[in-house]
Amino acid sequence: MSDKTYGFETLSVHAGAAPDPATGARALPIYQTTAYVFEDADHAAALFNLQTVGFIYSRLTNPTNAALEARLATLEGGRGCTVASSGHAAQVLALFPLMSPGAEIVASSRLYGGSLQQMKNTYPKFGWTAKVVDADEPENFKRAVTANTKAFFIESLANPGGVVSDIEAIARIAEDAGVPLLVDNTLATPWLCKPIDYGATLIVHSTTKFLSGTGTSMGGAVVDSGKFDWSKGGKFPSLAGPEPAYHGLNFNETFGDMAYTFHSHAVGLRDLGPSQAPFNAWLTMLGIETLGLRMERHCANAAKVAQYLEKHPAVAWVNYAGLPSNKYNKLARKYLPKGAGSVFTFGVKGGYDVGVKVVDGVELFSHLANIGDAKSLIIHPASTTHRQLSDEQRVAAGAGPDVLRLSIGIETVEDIIADLDQALAKAAA
Ligand SMILES: *Cc1c(COP(=O)(O)O)cnc(C)c1O
Repeated sequence: MSDKTYGFETLSVHAGAAPDPATGARALPIYQTTAYVFEDADHAAALFNLQTVGFIYSRLTNPTNAALEARLATLEGGRGCTVASSGHAAQVLALFPLMSPGAEIVASSRLYGGSLQQMKNTYPKFGWTAKVVDADEPENFKRAVTANTKAFFIESLANPGGVVSDIEAIARIAEDAGVPLLVDNTLATPWLCKPIDYGATLIVHSTTKFLSGTGTSMGGAVVDSGKFDWSKGGKFPSLAGPEPAYHGLNFNETFGDMAYTFHSHAVGLRDLGPSQAPFNAWLTMLGIETLGLRMERHCANAAKVAQYLEKHPAVAWVNYAGLPSNKYNKLARKYLPKGAGSVFTFGVKGGYDVGVKVVDGVELFSHLANIGDAKSLIIHPASTTHRQLSDEQRVAAGAGPDVLRLSIGIETVEDIIADLDQALAKAAA
């Protein structure tokens, strides 16, 4: 199908998934296979030389995963996509072609706690350094750039702070610095925001969340806009020089705007190995079919819950970018005009102890470490997801002692509000 003429919801259902040519099966088959038979020795050689596109081994490519890759590239307005076993695997995979020992990235302090953890403690083991800056002031990215900077990393809508990044301003600074801007678009999904439209180079996703949508399937993805010139400035030798990890192939000269995506499969997935299970790709494809419907309800419910909490006497503050009172409301109206997502934080009067009582008091909400499920979820970040960070890092990431994070589901909104109401009453008593 021609992607250009269809709306987002149509593409969510159809992109990447034509009827199976071999059997006519209308639903996408799960290609539960490790390997693929070569036509002959020449075909095999051409596949390994990347002279023909096809399937060799499912660590590199798989037809079910390829369908999800095509769908995500289409929905994000990108050129190519690589899916991975989790969001965190996708982040490593996304940086891998850009980085080498001594290389640096500049990242927002408002990133998801797990991403900050990865950057602070694990990337240094690869010789990579992450400089963490306050992204509310885009100029901070400029100040942190050195000759070794290879990428900027932000979230469009940050987990858990309800923080919206000024993607366009940060993309302009990245362009001046000659580095790609990576945007984690997990919380917004392409239904709410398409960062490539604002100058982002690479999009990363935890498809585990809203894209799969029902809390069943770990997965991640990297989408390349295809718009970055990897040869400019000589900063990216793995992509635009002879790549020793692939018998000296120059990916940029050979594959043009698909260089990054080919490298991610042929070198990244091949050598790091975080391939997505085809069954998870299939469940995620199924989830994406209803992405628009779900996001519409997620956002509408979240807005009503945020309004309710803002008026509640036991609540100290609500950080939902969709509220007119919110600091990020102007940015939200620009970058997220259809809604500010369904993950946000609020603070309870009484701090840590009251926060813990609220998570123990809910009945409909599930107390767990996930977001983006059809079910409403709650967590107290300071005692769970952000516990490994220092106090200052927790506060900087929007996860102080009084903070509760909600991921509002698609249930009847009155039921969601009633559950919070009784839990807050019990906690305050
Ligand atoms: C969950 C999450 C990740 C990590 O994804 P996993 O699939 O859990 O590995 C990264 N970024 C954001 C914003 C997330 O919410």
